Amino acid sequence: MPLVTTEATVLKTYEYSETSKILRLLTRDLGLCSVIAKGARRPKSRFGGLLEPFTDGEATFYAKEGRELHTLSGFELHRERQALGRELVRYAGAGLLSEIVLRFAPAAADDELFFQLRRGLDHLVEENGDLEIVILQQAWQLIERLGFAPSIDRCTLCGAGIVGDEDCFFDLGGGGAICARCRTRTSGLSLRPLKPRARAELIGLLSPRPPLPAARRLETAPAQRDLLRDFIAYHLADHRPLNSFRFLEERLR
Ligand SMILES: [Zn+2]
Repeated sequence: MPLVTTEATVLKTYEYSETSKILRLLTRDLGLCSVIAKGARRPKSRFGGLLEPFTDGEATFYAKEGRELHTLSGFELHRERQALGRELVRYAGAGLLSEIVLRFAPAAADDELFFQLRRGLDHLVEENGDLEIVILQQAWQLIERLGFAPSIDRCTLCGAGIVGDEDCFFDLGGGGAICARCRTRTSGLSLRPLKPRARAELIGLLSPRPPLPAARRLETAPAQRDLLRDFIAYHLADHRPLNSFRFLEERLR
């Protein structure tokens, strides 16, 4: 039963029994892990109030071979993000980023994903501009890191480049844009129009450099929300929207 110490971010917590908590962690060395923090809900727990969602630290636990739940023995705080809890949109956005990782991260550790999530949560804490831009941007970039980014520069059917002012369509099933010419020979239930403005803003959300300045607002925010929600549902979540997305949409309305 080796003792493991690894950097970790708390994604989600569950109460367990009268006194304990179960934590879902993204760890740097072991990827996603579940640990039980025994006694964490007692008033004088040695974990104090550290074990809250979106907290970074160094977790030490006994990794039991063949078991899915390990026993946490220590957690050294590196960064708490309690500021997220003071504003519902920030909190909802952090919940979405966490759920994307929780549901879709690969079994193996992934350094880039690990640090990208942390950067995303930091952006959400610090951003003074339009939070929706930051949330959509960070969510798309996690999806890109997970290997599911849509292709929107070229038609996914004929390969033709799509120019700026061209009306095109987004094919949820095909995972990208299709041109108006190909639209006429496709009968997809998962097609939706992608207007030039919405496509331009989607490109801005997808490419980290240069990022869309959060100082301005998205002109096509409702369309971007719908697209991200439906894309995740279609590609990753068995056609069901993520719970965290519903919560976020209610906050943004
Ligand atoms: Zn085409």
